[in-house]
Amino acid sequence: MLRFRLEPAKEQEQKLLHTFRLCRKMYNQALEERITSYRQHGVSIHYTDQQNRLPAWKREHPEYKDIHSQVLQNVLQRLDQAFVNFFEKRAGFPSFKDKFCFRSITYSQARPSYFREDGSVFLPKIGRVKMIAHQPFDAASVKIINVKFHDGRWYVNLTYVTEAVAPLREIQNAAGIDLGLLSLIATSDGEFFENPQWLQKSEKSLKRMQRQLSRKKKGSKNREKAKHELQGAHDHVANQRKDHLHKVSRSLMDRYDLICMEDLQVKGMMKNHRLVKSIANASWGKLATYLEYKAKNAGKQLIKVPPHHTSQLCSAGCGTLVKKDLLVRIHQCPTCGLDIDRDVNAAINILQRGLEIVRQAG
Ligand SMILES: [Zn+2]
Repeated sequence: MLRFRLEPAKEQEQKLLHTFRLCRKMYNQALEERITSYRQHGVSIHYTDQQNRLPAWKREHPEYKDIHSQVLQNVLQRLDQAFVNFFEKRAGFPSFKDKFCFRSITYSQARPSYFREDGSVFLPKIGRVKMIAHQPFDAASVKIINVKFHDGRWYVNLTYVTEAVAPLREIQNAAGIDLGLLSLIATSDGEFFENPQWLQKSEKSLKRMQRQLSRKKKGSKNREKAKHELQGAHDHVANQRKDHLHKVSRSLMDRYDLICMEDLQVKGMMKNHRLVKSIANASWGKLATYLEYKAKNAGKQLIKVPPHHTSQLCSAGCGTLVKKDLLVRIHQCPTCGLDIDRDVNAAINILQRGLEIVRQAG
């Protein structure tokens, strides 16, 4: 990475500061949206969900038409990275940004034509800005431009990217996955990933500790001690759960080039909340985050599909909707005679929907 001084004209400086303000506002609203969705519906929102809604966001907030789309996408990526850091225990829960902590913007797809011999750099939506290039550099290899305001001065960081994110692979193995009610997930290949016994045991002992705590006298030393122990056990189980989800997501991404799953956001609104266990839901959201990020790094794909009727529709292609309540574990089709596990049936439907999306994208 190279760092040069920038000397924006007064008007360009105003535009840059205005951009910081709007980016900070969007960052905070996107964070709030993630928190609210999780608290109210137990549903995690992901980067792709928020990115897909950028055009709608711009329509609702016309002032954002002055901000370049790469810059806005980068704002959402920063938020996403903050969550990844949090989930991987590298940082605390993402916080809202005040005006002093949002002082840079990033263009992720620089072009060689942005740089001129006279030492200026073109910043889309801002203009051509004077740059003090104190050493020669290879303009054609610059991929990322980051503009920063620090200690009253403007800087530009130029990053060369040598394929940090893997190019997209050809799809050879694809799978649909469904959140099982009894197991963690079922795949369209008929495989089941279970929550391991030790994790179930830890969760049970956690519940026991919780009950014991509630029986202790308020304000007593014993209660304080039990509370402390419970917190420790809680963190321990949360870590165990995360480790397991990392293992599952790695194993899935090793095997498949394309993984399809249900769109959680829609699912959360459709499902009866009393039926959805908060832990299962939280796990599902984390699994989605891990899969998304592993796919990106491996040049593979994760596709989210509309969840309507995935568990009822017969996956053999006969078009029959086989109604069944949650206790019925088998999908038995009266039309074509298909007889398989209900979650595997759903996973196959999810895969077919994902493949249809890939075909349409051409
Ligand atoms: Zn059928």
